[in-house]
Amino acid sequence: MSGAPRTPRFPLSLERMTSAMPAKATKAPSTQTARVPAAADPAAGVPSGLGLDSHGVRVRMVARLRGAGARHDGVLAAMVQLPRHFFVDTALAAQAYEDTSLPIGHGQTISKPSIVARMLELLFAGANARAAGSLGRVLEIGTGCGYQAALLGALARQVYTIERVKPLHDKARENLAALREHRIRLVYGDGRHGHPPNAPYDSIIAAAGGGELPPAWLEQLAPGGRLVAPMLDAASGAQLLTVVDREERGYVWTRHESVLFVPLKSGLD
Ligand code: SAH
Repeated sequence: MSGAPRTPRFPLSLERMTSAMPAKATKAPSTQTARVPAAADPAAGVPSGLGLDSHGVRVRMVARLRGAGARHDGVLAAMVQLPRHFFVDTALAAQAYEDTSLPIGHGQTISKPSIVARMLELLFAGANARAAGSLGRVLEIGTGCGYQAALLGALARQVYTIERVKPLHDKARENLAALREHRIRLVYGDGRHGHPPNAPYDSIIAAAGGGELPPAWLEQLAPGGRLVAPMLDAASGAQLLTVVDREERGYVWTRHESVLFVPLKSGLD
């Protein structure tokens, strides 16, 4: 694996947050681009007795990911720290550490841990990330519940994450508020246009796929930057994990294994 991974740094240990902390974050007023406010207890609302706030459950999940081939120490350390159950509905919390995608409402899903680990590992192999030992300035398309954004926040210098479904955007902000993570900016918008105000990006990652990569993503990729996204392969009809590196000689495309992501949609909901 490339570079020496930095120890992921969530600003406070979620594990140590107790019920003495204030209740779960209340909704802040919506703006087009919202800085994540400080707040709250990520363990609030999780059924007690499931042992889900146990560090051990996540250590075992990560051991299984390693067994299946995940290698990036920084990514895996971040996944040990971050409580995935906090990002899904209480009724699904018991399944949060299985390697499965789960519904998050509005027909969308939280990606399964193995694909999240795989995509972040691929991002870390980009030239700029290798040189810096950090994902640098990141653009994420498809915030969903905010789980992957939170991991990115621990592994990058700055994260801009876009979601087109307003209730999910709001929910993700509420979830992320608990992390007191100042490196994540949530944007409500159509991610097919990227996010020009803060371009270029060292790393671009999409959690939704279409038949082509929007030109805006390629334009907003920094020299030495890397993009990882699912993309439909016309020949096979399969959705393939696609990597694009912006090198001096131009854009270099690599196609990897087949994956299953929700469709990249147009406009806003
Ligand atoms: N990374 C997310 C995965 C969410 S699933 C997580 O950790 O939960 C993919 C998300 O992409 C969905 O929430 C969907 O609404 C969103 N999406 C689809 N098309 C989009 C677009 N054009 N712009 C922004 N978000 C989009």
